[in-house]
Amino acid sequence: MTARLKAPKGTHDLFPAEAEKFAAVESVARRVFGSFGYGEIRTPIFESTELFARSVGETTDIVHKEMYTFPDRKGRSLTLRPENTAGVVRALVEKGLQEIPRPIRLWYAGPQFRYEQPQAGRYREFRQIGVELAGVASPAGDAEVLGMLFQFLRALGFTDAVATLNCIPRGQARQAFSKALQDHVRPHAERLGAEDRKRLDQNPLRLFDSKDPETRRILEGAPATLDFLDEASRSHHEELKRLLPGGGVPFVESASIVRGIDYYTLTVFEVTSARLGAQNALLGGGRYDDLVSDLGGAPTPAVGFAIGEDRLVEAMTEDVRPTRTLFWAIPDGPDEYLYALGVAREIRALLPDAIVESDLSGRGIVKGLSRAGHVATDPSRYPFRVGRVHAVLLGSKEREGDTVTVKDLATGKQETFPRNQLAERLAGRER
Ligand code: AMP
Repeated sequence: MTARLKAPKGTHDLFPAEAEKFAAVESVARRVFGSFGYGEIRTPIFESTELFARSVGETTDIVHKEMYTFPDRKGRSLTLRPENTAGVVRALVEKGLQEIPRPIRLWYAGPQFRYEQPQAGRYREFRQIGVELAGVASPAGDAEVLGMLFQFLRALGFTDAVATLNCIPRGQARQAFSKALQDHVRPHAERLGAEDRKRLDQNPLRLFDSKDPETRRILEGAPATLDFLDEASRSHHEELKRLLPGGGVPFVESASIVRGIDYYTLTVFEVTSARLGAQNALLGGGRYDDLVSDLGGAPTPAVGFAIGEDRLVEAMTEDVRPTRTLFWAIPDGPDEYLYALGVAREIRALLPDAIVESDLSGRGIVKGLSRAGHVATDPSRYPFRVGRVHAVLLGSKEREGDTVTVKDLATGKQETFPRNQLAERLAGRER
């Protein structure tokens, strides 16, 4: 006997009811982001390893220990994307930024891969929905992106979400902040684990990503990002705070949000949900004004976010899947299959959002009707929300008279009418 095959650790299969929730969330994303003028971009699932090392950062956890990296058959080092911003920026630079009308408004949805310890809400293959706005330096860009994010969250029923906002110093101010952070932490260096000691030396901002309680204790009372902002950064941050209410964005400030990715400059934010574990953010984002030029493009300011779609779906309490009317077509035995196929086809053409499912058991109308009754009372059988349920009875009488008998299972009302009246009779029964 061969061993039973299992999905790789940290991955999960989405069966129809679950997959339909993801599709519904993505279609809300398409609608809301589209209404702000954002178009979808799809980039490769694997990229050259160097892309992530140069953008996300060598000393981040993601690059350092979480990437799925492999040589291809020609020995090129490739990596399954751990996030999508780097790929989007690579695509923009490769196409030629001057070719693309400004500002550049993009969104994406797709799988990402990180070799992490799987736990609730943390997977090795997970999905992100994200947005990138490139070509707007003004805080009005940050405000647009955050306003759009909150409109999306509200459309999914997250009415109590609040953004946690911070501003990370740039350039020399960032160096001064890093230095102050090192000065604060160094006296306690012997209490740090090996990993955090390396962070202290190489990339002190990354200390804020540490989950070690000892490190977190040392960081209490650490210098605050906001105290190190230069004049331009401070006014960017103040102006953003002034604009956010206009976009309907509730927020609080926190000096300890720095996000685990190096490319962020100035604005960074997170949204957590009370419905997820305390450590688990629903999404993260921020401004990355240097990334495009770091990857070889003309300097182009940009801002965006990435939502953990799996966590979003897990935390959702509202059912945003579409409601569909169900027609359960029952041929009275195999002799009526031909007629039933034609009628079912006609109903689908008339009501494209309905489900027309054929009873192929061949057991006739009486058994079929009782089956329809079960189906009507067990909507979980469908990945959609099931609205009204009808049985469509197709026996020899119907075939000979070219008629259709439709029974509404909720009211029990049954009527037989000529097949050529299907359009009028079924009008308004789409949902
Ligand atoms: P990041 O790209 O690290 O800024 O993460 C953005 C969002 O993606 C997080 O807030 C999570 O919701 C989600 N996310 C990141 N890593 C994982 C993971 N391993 N499993 C599930 N979701 C994740």
